[in-house]
Amino acid sequence: MARYNGPVCRLCRREGMKLFLKGERCYTDKCAIEKRNVPPGQHGRARKAKMAGYGVQLREKQRVKRIYGVLEDQFRRYFEAADRTRGITGETLLQLLERRLDNAVYRLGFATSRPQARQLVRHGHFTVNGRKVDIPSFSLKVGDMVSVRETSRQNASILHAVEEVKGRGVPEWLSLDADMGGKVVSVPTREQINLPVQEQLIVELYSK
Ligand code: SF4
Repeated sequence: MARYNGPVCRLCRREGMKLFLKGERCYTDKCAIEKRNVPPGQHGRARKAKMAGYGVQLREKQRVKRIYGVLEDQFRRYFEAADRTRGITGETLLQLLERRLDNAVYRLGFATSRPQARQLVRHGHFTVNGRKVDIPSFSLKVGDMVSVRETSRQNASILHAVEEVKGRGVPEWLSLDADMGGKVVSVPTREQINLPVQEQLIVELYSK
């Protein structure tokens, strides 16, 4: 599966907000948004000033894609699935993205960022309901149990993340257990998805 391998702080500067792609660094004053919150490139500042209508909708879509580390085709498939489902399309879209295994690993505090969570899942450090799953986009259902594999419980990156993000808390749709695992207790509501985006703009963009 293709993925973006370029400099990630550049993506935050492009979107004008913290996307939290670098773990601990994002919470320090070394963060590029803290130091220099202007779009990258020679004409970045000018482009930002001119943005309206389609540009605003496009940026909102790019933000969400980049936060979850999803590329265009896959993101479009998430949107189509959300559009086919009963309910508010924008909210359903975010629910589908939140229920990705890599996101749940990040939300449970076993990784300091979503990109790290994705890599840890890819390397086979997690199980879902007792079976190894190494697909970051694996969609979790209510009642699913995500655990760090027995053989990975001393993994330095996971132990470091657990220590590092202790105070961050776990969203209400997940419950963390003491045995390096967590359970999906409900479908996340919009209020439980802590994301400063206007998903309606994405719906408007794709509905043109
Ligand atoms: Fe974004 Fe984190 Fe880089 Fe800050 S440090 S610009 S939040 S990836």
